[in-house]
This record gives sequence, structure tokens and C-alpha cells, in this order.
Amino acid sequence: MNTLMLSSDNEDIGKAAEIIKRGGIVAIPTETVYGLAADALNGDAVRKIFKAKGRPMDNPLIVHISDISQIYSLVREFPRKAEILAEKFWPGPLTIILPKSDIIPDEVSAGLDTVAIRFPSHKTAQKLITLSSPLAAPSANLSGSPSPTTLRHVYDDMNGRADAIIDGGDCEVGVESTVITLAQDIPALLRPGGITAEQLRSAIGEIKVANAVTQPLGDGERAASPGMKYKHYSPKAEVILLDGENDEFYGYINGIKDRNAAVLCYTEDMENIELPCIPIGKKYDYSEQAHLLFAALRKADEMGFDTVYARCPGKKGVGLAVYNRIIRAAGFNIISLKGAEKK
Ligand code: AMP
Ligand code: MG
Repeated sequence: MNTLMLSSDNEDIGKAAEIIKRGGIVAIPTETVYGLAADALNGDAVRKIFKAKGRPMDNPLIVHISDISQIYSLVREFPRKAEILAEKFWPGPLTIILPKSDIIPDEVSAGLDTVAIRFPSHKTAQKLITLSSPLAAPSANLSGSPSPTTLRHVYDDMNGRADAIIDGGDCEVGVESTVITLAQDIPALLRPGGITAEQLRSAIGEIKVANAVTQPLGDGERAASPGMKYKHYSPKAEVILLDGENDEFYGYINGIKDRNAAVLCYTEDMENIELPCIPIGKKYDYSEQAHLLFAALRKADEMGFDTVYARCPGKKGVGLAVYNRIIRAAGFNIISLKGAEKK
């Protein structure tokens, strides 16, 4: 397939809208990560997304809207708590799961009775939706790989697989949207992202955090969010997380003799580490870490490293989103350095 490269100007967004209306798939910029979009109400078009990504068909997609009024035909109920969240956080990096209406194709909901809805703040995405239709779009990476946050990442994964790619520069947030379900008595955070658990609680009160956010699923445990059960966000290199204080971390890292290893670290760590470093931002700047994380994981592969050691990040605020992605990239492989003997 020949992939058309488009800019974010009006004429090119118009071309992308025509491709979507004809049932094609287009990689688009959003404020979280790049998405791979199709007309959400066209099951055949949506199926092409799964094929292009190699995504398991049981992993549902998020439907993107560009005006609140579009939601009423997509869901069966729009409860007060959803209204409050929409008023406070839309447009923005929050996905809300609600009971689905009959017009949502099975391909989008993966056979579930619910649908995930988001109103992105990115102007190019909004314009495209307005000119075409609500868009079903997962991240525009090959299934399992780190999500794309730059044009080059999308090109590397989707050239020859998507009908077109729209250049929107680098993504601002850098990790996928926060996902909350309101399709149950007590709302539950299924995936942390740019809107934090603390912000959600201050808006609507009690929410649960699904176990799968921080832990591997137990045997036979059902994933509330099917996407959480897969190994995810992984570069080709093996990722190993190190949990410890600065001295413990530096001691361990500087004892490693493997010349094919690199370290994902905070900016402040770099001067203390002898192995090649790929910085992911300052220690307490969780937004910067979210912004840089996926690019850093891809860079490790580009530079040809076999192993990547990473610091175990903090779990507060947007830090929880960084933690959630990096433990999956590492396949939950965490070495505790707490109290370990210094080398
Ligand atoms: P992606 O679009 O690649 O960021 O993935 C979307 C995420 O939202 C995946 O983890 C899905 O499992 C999750 N998701 C989408 N729709 C639903 C739904 N109806 N119920 C639960 N999780 C969902
Ligand atoms: Mg994804």
C-alpha cells in the first residue's frame, strides 16, 4: 500500500476526511499519542485498523468525538458523573466508558456492551472528525510496541500499512489517555494517563483503581480493560526495572559490565552513571517523563542496545501513568535494590 504523507493544513485534512469517508485508515496526531483512525460506525473500515496493527480483535477501541452533542447517539446512558467529567476534562486526555448504543459496531467494542469515548483537544484531530465522522482510533503503533509520539515513530510503524499519515509534530502528553469506566456502580480507573486519579476524585468523589494498573493479572483474573492483559509498550531490548534509592541504583548500575546495556534515567542521574544514558526527564517532573518515555524506549532499539535498565518511577499524579507503562514494557521484571549490599 502506498501511504500518502499529509500536513495539518486545511486542504490536507480535507483529503484525510475523504479517505475516512471512503472507508480508509489514517494515522492522526492527538495530544496524547498518534492514533490510527477509521470511521467508527463502519465495521469494515475498523477491521482494517486491527489488521494494520496486528491488534488482537478482543481489544476494543476508543471512539473520538469533536463535539459533545455527538455522544448522545453513541451511548445508551450519559449519567451525571459523565457530564461532570466531560465539563471538566474535555476536550483532553480522558476516555470515559459508558453503556454503548446499537450503532456501535462489534469491531469497536470487541463484543462488550460498553464503548469508550474521548474528545481530544488536538485541533487537527478535531477538524478531521468534524469533516468526516466520529473516529475509532487506537495508538498508531504495531501492537505491543511503544506508542508513537513523533511523526517518525508513526512512519516507522505505519508506512505501507495506513492509507495516509498526517504530520502534527510531537505529541504533547506522550502517554495514552486516562481511561475511567462509569458503566458500573463505583467508577474505576482502568488506565492512568494525563488526567490523574486525584483530579478524577476531586471531580466525582470515590473511584477505584483497577488492580491491573499496577500489578500483573492473576491466573484466571478477567481484565476490566482487555488491553491491560497484553505485554505492551515494549522495545525489542529487554527492559529491567530497578527499585532503590540513588546510591543503591548507582551502585548496581556501575557494577554492570555488559557493553550492550543502556540506562533509562532521570536527568539528575546522568553524571553518576558510567553506562550510556537515555534521560526521561527530571526526577519529580512526571509530565516531562510521560512526554519522553516512549521516545526513550524506541531510542534504545535504534541505538542497538540489548538490555535497558530503568529506574522505578514514582506513582503520584501523572507518575502513575509512567509507572503503568514502564512495568508493562518490562513485563513486570523488577529487581528490588532496597537494602541490597552496595558494590
Ligand atoms: P489504545 O487505543 O491502544 O490506547 O487502547 C485503548 C484502551 O482502552 C485499551 O486498553 C482497551 O482495552 C481500553 N478500552 C477501550 N474500550 C473499552 C471498553 N469498552 N471497556 C474497557 N476497556 C476499553
Ligand atoms: Mg495502544
